[in-house]
This record gives sequence, structure tokens and C-alpha cells, in this order.
Amino acid sequence: MIKSLEELDLKEKRVFIRVDFNVPYDSQGRVKDDARIVASLPTIRHVLDAGGKAIIASHLGRPKGKPDPKYSLMPVAARLSELLEREVIFPEDCIGDAVKKLVGEMREGEVILLENLRFHPGEEANDPLFSERLASLAEVYVNDAFGTLHRAHASTVGMVPLIKEKAAGLLVLKEVQTLSRLLHEPERPFVALLGGAKVSDKLGVIENLLKLVDGLMIGGAMAYTFLKAKGVEVGSSLVEDAKIHQAAKLLERARIKDIRLELPQDHVVAKELKEGAEFKTTNSREIPAGWMGLDIGPKTLEAYEKQILGAKTVLWNGPVGAFETEPFEKGTVEIARTMAKSTGMTVVGGGDSLAAVKVAGVADKITHLSTGGGATLEFLEGKVLPGLKALEIEGASA
Ligand code: AMP
Repeated sequence: MIKSLEELDLKEKRVFIRVDFNVPYDSQGRVKDDARIVASLPTIRHVLDAGGKAIIASHLGRPKGKPDPKYSLMPVAARLSELLEREVIFPEDCIGDAVKKLVGEMREGEVILLENLRFHPGEEANDPLFSERLASLAEVYVNDAFGTLHRAHASTVGMVPLIKEKAAGLLVLKEVQTLSRLLHEPERPFVALLGGAKVSDKLGVIENLLKLVDGLMIGGAMAYTFLKAKGVEVGSSLVEDAKIHQAAKLLERARIKDIRLELPQDHVVAKELKEGAEFKTTNSREIPAGWMGLDIGPKTLEAYEKQILGAKTVLWNGPVGAFETEPFEKGTVEIARTMAKSTGMTVVGGGDSLAAVKVAGVADKITHLSTGGGATLEFLEGKVLPGLKALEIEGASA
């Protein structure tokens, strides 16, 4: 069982909040997209309103275990301060005597943002000493960084048992509750659409979903490995040859379980993946030699739309085409629009699908946008996320 942040008494307590402030910077080193900071505000505000002292920590980029000004969280501190409309104290490090002193002097409602956790190799190595030093800063631990829960790092796992009071933040709770509902009590029919390029990332997810869904659709480059496994000509489309065998096994499993598994029936093809490249739509599944499938065709789109609109629960993860390059974005943007039209529960995950939902302007029409990336996929695979396991305590209510 995992406690919710709302169940804890935070008055006058030093609360370590692990957030995901891994945001992009512009060429002048300012925060380019503050969505992740904004998303963490409810948890931070809850701590402050409850009389707690917020010690906020995050990683940013891959600074390789040593300080690198390029990856400093200073611009984030500035933006956070604007958003919270209060001072954000920003020490030069995330551990050490100076930080300890600052933390010791904190008053109710004060905010400290620690410097990038990955400036120390101990973070990713889940080093016990580094974990201890982080844990020594606080009396309560809160994790609100869903996207980091699949990694056993010092700030997500190592330090957690060293602090008595622990809870999930509001973002983590929402993710866990929504994705758990999907896995354990979806309203049926429940269908899933998986796309993207890397078959290897999604095989485990497909395997687990085959135990749960009523229908499964596959799109994107991934579909070509499955089509090839069925003996369909795929021209020069992207195929992971080493995964053909596993793909064939999954197709067979779906057949035995009588689950409707749909693969593209037609494609938008080109000779190369390049903006403005000559392209055409095929009439069938087969792709002529020298051409590559770069988006789903109109027949496939129609079939997938029908499944989506006929379902009460829909999960979508991964683009159905090379959507960054015109004109191969159409299928993915149309899928986003169809998700928005669904009257059922809709869950969209994966950076590319989220981007497509934004491009289509329908983000507010999706029930849940899952921000987890790898963590979302591992959750859907049915794996235990180490960061969630660390938060578990006997007898809690959530
Ligand atoms: P993934 O990281 O596995 O989710 O894959 C996402 C990437 O797959 C995006 O960058 C898409 O451009 C790419 N993609 C999707 N469909 C295709 C395709 N048919 N051919 C080449 N790349 C594709």
C-alpha cells in the first residue's frame, strides 16, 4: 500500500519532494517548456499550504556524475519562483554542509530547490552514502516524479527507507490510479494501439496487453516487423529482423486467444524518409521493393478509428508513422483527433503521441495524458516499478 501526500501531517516538517524538472532550455539557457514544473505545482503547494518546508530535488539531462553549468537547475529555480510567487532558495549543491545548514534554518512555507542530483555519480549508482546524505536533509519523503519510478536511483529508491514518513505526490497518484484501472478494471471493450519504431521496447507491453485487451492495433515502423513475420512483402521499411520470431509468437498467441490483432492494411510509402519526398498510397498490405512504409494508409486509419470509437477504454502509445516529417504525420494526427472523439476513457502515453495530441489541439479531450515514458511502458508491462515499491508501507490506505 502507498500513502497519499494528503494523508501526512506536514506541519513544520522538512519535506523532500522528488520531482521531474528535466525540462528543455533554449539557446539562452532559459526554460523553454515549463509544463513539467507547472505539473508539479499542486504537490508543492500542498506541502506549503500544510505548513511544510519544501526541499525540492530533480535531475536534469545527463551531466555524467559531475557539475556542469549546462545542466544547472538555476533557470528552473527562477521559473519556479515566478510560478509560486515566492522566493526559491537555490544552493550550489544537493548535499553537503552548506545545504544542511540552509535546510536547518528553513521556516514553514519556505522552498529550497537543490542543484541537479546527477552532479553526483552516487545518484544513478544508487550509492548508500549519497542516499544517506540526501535522506539526512528531511523528515518526510514524497515522490512526485512518475517518469523516474522505473529507475532505482538514490533519490527514487536508496534514500526512501531512511526516511520514516513517505508518500506519493499528486501526479504519481494520478498516474498510478489511472494506469492501474486500465490494467485491473477497464470498462470493455478495451482496445490498445501501439506504434513507434522500436519493437524491442514494446514486445513486453504487447505480451501483457494480450492478457487484458479485447483488441490490439499496431502501427508505425513496428508494424513492419509483424507484417514480415506474416510473410508480407515490406519493401525497404524499417524491420527488426532479430525480433521477427517473437513477433510471430505474439501473433500466434493473439490468434489462439481470439483477440482481434490488427496490422496495417495499406500504407503511405516513399523511397526515402525526407520532407517533400515523392510518396504514394498502396492499395494493399504489400510494399513494392525500394519503397518504405512511413505512415498508415486511409483503409487502416478507417479500421483503427472504428475500433477506437467502438471501445469504452482506449490506450494509445507511439506514433503510427514517421510523424516528424511531412507528409507522414497525417495518420498520427488523425489518430489523436479520433482519440479526442471517443466517449470512453482514453489514455495516451509516450512523448511522440503526447506531441501529436498537442499538435492536433485536443489535449483537453483526452482522459489521461501519461507523462511517464519508460515508466509508463514498464507499468503497462506489469513490471513492479522500483520507485513505487520503495514507497510501499504496511497498512496505508491508497
Ligand atoms: P519509438 O521511440 O519506438 O516510440 O519510436 C518513435 C519514432 O518512430 C518516431 O521518431 C517516428 O518518426 C518513428 N516512426 C514511426 N513510424 C515510422 C515508420 N513507418 N518509419 C520510420 N520511422 C517511423
